[in-house]
Amino acid sequence: MSETVKAILDRKGREVVTLAPQASIGEAATTLNEHRIGAIVVTGADGGIAGIFTERDLVRAVAKSGAACLSQPLSSIMTAAVQRCSEETRVNELMELMTAGRFRHLPVEHGGKLGGIVSIGDVVKSRISEVEQEAAAIKAYIAS
Ligand code: AMP
Repeated sequence: MSETVKAILDRKGREVVTLAPQASIGEAATTLNEHRIGAIVVTGADGGIAGIFTERDLVRAVAKSGAACLSQPLSSIMTAAVQRCSEETRVNELMELMTAGRFRHLPVEHGGKLGGIVSIGDVVKSRISEVEQEAAAIKAYIAS
């Protein structure tokens, strides 16, 4: 069985880069670049998930409004209906959710709060190590 989101977060950590809905798209571009990430979770005053803003949204905003978009708030372009997963979600299910939803990021909700984020990169890493372990086990079995 594929590993859980909890196993991924135990390895990589639970820190999530967030911004408020009033933050500008220009600020978000700087934040994405500084942290070398592809997505920012937009949180409300209560710390709850209010939306998600990714590099894809940045491209869309620039294509639509040009440089003027940089002073517009994240709330004007972010995706407000955010799909989430839990620590119990397994990698196979992450792949299905990302493929069906055509996105590469899934915030993790834990105890009603934002408790991490998994990206397609985490999914690929997990699958590769799983396949490598299976191959090693098969080789060991054949050799025995
Ligand atoms: P991505 O592939 O993650 O860069 O996202 C592609 C599009 O899907 C962007 O418009 C994002 O705002 C949106 N998106 C990303 N992650 C999610 C998510 N977990 N739930 C809903 N929409 C998302």
